[in-house]
Amino acid sequence: MIVMKFGGSSVADASRLRHVADIIKLYVKQKPAIVLSAMGDTTDHLLDAGNMALTQGKVDIKNVEKLHSATIKTLKLPVQKEIDGLFDELTRLLSGIALIRELTPRTKDYLVSFGERLSVRIASAFFQSVKMNAKAFDAFDLGFLSNSNYTQAELEKESWDLIPQKIQPLIKGNVIPVITGFIAKDGKGNITTLGRGGSDLTATMIAAACRADEIQVWKDVDGILTADPRIVKNAKPVQNATYEEASELAYYGAQVLHPRAMQPCMKTGTPVLVKNSYNVEAPGTRIEHSQVPGAKNRPVRAITSRRNVTLVDIVSTRMLGQYGFLAEVFSICAKHNVSVDMVATSEVSVSLTLDSNYDLSEVKKELSKIAAVEVKTEKAIVSIIGNVKRSSEILVRAFRICQFLGVTVQMISQGASKVNISFIVNDAEAAEVVKSLHLDFFEEAEKPSAKVN
Ligand code: ASP
Ligand code: MG
Repeated sequence: MIVMKFGGSSVADASRLRHVADIIKLYVKQKPAIVLSAMGDTTDHLLDAGNMALTQGKVDIKNVEKLHSATIKTLKLPVQKEIDGLFDELTRLLSGIALIRELTPRTKDYLVSFGERLSVRIASAFFQSVKMNAKAFDAFDLGFLSNSNYTQAELEKESWDLIPQKIQPLIKGNVIPVITGFIAKDGKGNITTLGRGGSDLTATMIAAACRADEIQVWKDVDGILTADPRIVKNAKPVQNATYEEASELAYYGAQVLHPRAMQPCMKTGTPVLVKNSYNVEAPGTRIEHSQVPGAKNRPVRAITSRRNVTLVDIVSTRMLGQYGFLAEVFSICAKHNVSVDMVATSEVSVSLTLDSNYDLSEVKKELSKIAAVEVKTEKAIVSIIGNVKRSSEILVRAFRICQFLGVTVQMISQGASKVNISFIVNDAEAAEVVKSLHLDFFEEAEKPSAKVN
């Protein structure tokens, strides 16, 4: 058995669905279970519709309806009635939101669940029409049980047993289950979601729990790339990566995979393949436990950056020889629901990085009671994911480049997972740093004249 997951852009319309069916046919012998995202931008359209109901009291499902009905019509699928039933339910939900002018996280999850529930029904009807033994399922009917942490729910341990109990008999019966990504139900029977991009996690969870031979995540890029192609024109696919490297890459800007998606497969050692549905021939990226040496044995796997970061510098002589000071700093952040990304400390100071979306006025006020605090905005994190055994070499090369560019490194941290070396620069300098690092670590062999020195 294998699991094949297709994201929103891979199932964006009738022609993409035809293409997905062709890809699945290549793997029918390996007994696939299929996991799908909502079609195209449907999740965003649903959230927009929810906001409109909430703020303007208007119920409008046109954007959601248009794409799905057009697909049904183009592919001549006999499911319009069933889909109309879901549109009715969605309209009633939006009317409720418009009436009471309230959109709680629980209702939001119910709202966005329509995206995946629509896509699997349409897709599986199409797969049947091209002679596949497909059947649509909502993940919560196949063992996806979560806690009630709406919009960011986590799967309960029982799911590890429930999922294979439900899915393995289907696979044995030669059914191709077409399963909603992203959604689950909590113990009270309310629909939950696993966080944006959560379909990846649905798929890796199925693969791990069912001990599948592999999980294929079909995207619209040639796998994990050595850098963001919008910044680095010559970014290349990474052929092999470990689960740790892939998780680091997901956190730090390379939004190829859901950050938590590696967790289930890391436990079972199930290989994860990231493939391009627009370029089926390309080998993609293979993620597993072992470290296969990179091409030409390069010390670095990939370079990423995260823009719009805030740096908080906390200096206090009270820290000297004291215990409890760091605990106090973190408990202030926790109290205000501020999540800390990077940390560096010395004997008398701590530097933290935070997402710039937070309003930090309260945190700053409280921290100022125990230390001198400086908040610096418009920073960026540059992360180098690479071989820890060569960290000195990586650091030398990276900082020589920063020096050459006249860029001051404002904080450094080598992640505990030991595959990540991150440092802070000004936001405006980040793209240039990433480009130059990429040139040095990945392109210099091909372009010796461009070497930074
Ligand atoms: N449809 C959801 C989203 O757009 C989940 C996913 O695509 O994985 O975030
Ligand atoms: Mg999506």
